[in-house]
Amino acid sequence: MQSGYTHLFIPGPTNVPEVVRQAMNVPQQDMRAPDFAEFTLPLFEGLKRVFKTTNGEVMMFPGSGTGAWEAAITNTLNPGDKVLMSRYGQFSHLWVKMAEMLGLDVICVDVPWGAGVPWKEYGRILGADKDDEIKAVFVTHNETAAGVVSDVAAVRRVMDECFHDALLFVDGVSSVASVDFRMDEWGVDLAVTGSQKGLMMPAGLGILGVSQKAMAVSKTARMRRAYFDFEDMVNINRSGYFPYTPPTPLLHGLRASLDLLEREGLENVFARHARLAEGVRRGVKAMGLDLVAEHPSLMSDTVSAIRVPPEVDAREVLRIAYEELNASFGSGLARLAGKVFRIGHLGSFNEGMALTALGLAELALVKAGAKVPLGAGVAAASSYFAEGAQSGLRLA
Ligand code: PLP
Repeated sequence: MQSGYTHLFIPGPTNVPEVVRQAMNVPQQDMRAPDFAEFTLPLFEGLKRVFKTTNGEVMMFPGSGTGAWEAAITNTLNPGDKVLMSRYGQFSHLWVKMAEMLGLDVICVDVPWGAGVPWKEYGRILGADKDDEIKAVFVTHNETAAGVVSDVAAVRRVMDECFHDALLFVDGVSSVASVDFRMDEWGVDLAVTGSQKGLMMPAGLGILGVSQKAMAVSKTARMRRAYFDFEDMVNINRSGYFPYTPPTPLLHGLRASLDLLEREGLENVFARHARLAEGVRRGVKAMGLDLVAEHPSLMSDTVSAIRVPPEVDAREVLRIAYEELNASFGSGLARLAGKVFRIGHLGSFNEGMALTALGLAELALVKAGAKVPLGAGVAAASSYFAEGAQSGLRLA
């Protein structure tokens, strides 16, 4: 048993603010009560502001991001449909795997883990698809495994340039409510997220933004679905109720979380994430380490995936951090196991947490045998927070 705080620096579930935690500590309540809708309807409106959609529908299914992935696919596509996907990390890989398991005909573009969505290649493939055989295009906005953010607007642009009608699916699990997400402006048809990252809550809600085009397609889409059916959900949601028992404590947590986001202001939330991420990146550079992201424009503002020196096993860094320092960092997933550890800097996060994360990372690295100058990362991040952050400087 260790004393003091347990530090959670994983990229989800993220730290739950005390007001959100307290807000969830409520008695069970009647989800068919006449005044229940007064509580729930503003939640949908709040989520629409987070997704930046005025035209789309927002739905919450009990579940996690993975459930929302499945809901997005099964409500809008038909068995055997051709879809365009790409892999640049474990989560984009898992979405491809799910699409294949559900019987879609997946064209998958593989790019190195550390690269972003291959939108130029998407443009070429879509341009050659003269008969519109491709029914959907998939993007993982923020690849949590590689710490890479992708350009969704560029994907929309190449789709529009060749007048392609495919649906645009975007995984925003580790981006929504932390970095700018513009569902309407980018023409996103299916936007997927979960409650346990930018929304600063426990896992338990799989949240979707669904365009009117996707809603229309869902009326004739023939993939098998039952629990995750959009029509039932959206029709009953309209009056503020749910087709089955909703997790009401989570809805109270969501109310508190939306209040926090609105009080800070979404644009300020994004600026805070950008500032803290930049501080962490400066720190990592000063430690002499590299990120998995191949280019500064791809570096995520919610999670940094950090390569350890070749003589060090990242699993040892994680073990030492957990067992000796009371701190959890994100592990290297799949092919990055042993080579990478991750610092999640999203949700309820501040300068003190960023500096603590860097300080503990340095300590765990040194204890694991890495030659990292102790204090260098913390000093670089501190200097940035003291001076550079005001000017919005970003590491070139
Ligand atoms: N997509 C991304 C980008 C993720 O980071 C995750 C989880 O970390 C998922 C999907 C899966 O979400 P969940 O674990 O909520 O099912």
